[in-house]
Amino acid sequence: MRIGIYPGSFDPITNGHMDILRRAASLFDEVILLLAVNPSKKSNFTIEERLEIMKEATKDMPNVRVDFTDGFTVDYAKKAGSAHIIRGLRAVTDFEYEFQLAAANKFVDPEVDMVFLMAGQTTSFISSSMINELHKNGADISPLVPPAVLKAYEGK
Ligand code: ADP
Repeated sequence: MRIGIYPGSFDPITNGHMDILRRAASLFDEVILLLAVNPSKKSNFTIEERLEIMKEATKDMPNVRVDFTDGFTVDYAKKAGSAHIIRGLRAVTDFEYEFQLAAANKFVDPEVDMVFLMAGQTTSFISSSMINELHKNGADISPLVPPAVLKAYEGK
């Protein structure tokens, strides 16, 4: 069975993430949507809130499972029996960071490989921080995020 791990902060998950996730789910038998918590990164939603949103947003995707780690993604991947970490690439600016991250992951575990999917044309401009900013300023973000995110903002 081929398992792919799609890690991220998902603060919150956006339609850009969902696009990458859907495409990854067609490439792998199972995809683990992994909330990989970076304690040094300030977040808008709590870990529990983010997990709940991620579960709700993927409830109709039969080969997607949601999980959480506060350790290295590569260690998680090894334990889960996966050698493939999925990431999305938006602009040139993502490349620099992702290239470095890929090298660091290879350093920790040479058996793990990164799988990069190009952002979709209509979703490539979306980022979680932009969503939080737009929402704070009263913009209608409903075309940019799954409905579960709108519900979570309402509950806040
Ligand atoms: P991280 O803090 O690990 O970068 P993010 O939640 O910001 O977590 O992003 C997770 C992954 O999804 C990253 O590989 C990022 O490049 C990718 N990603 C984020 N937004 C988009 C988008 N709009 N389209 C495609 N990929 C995206």
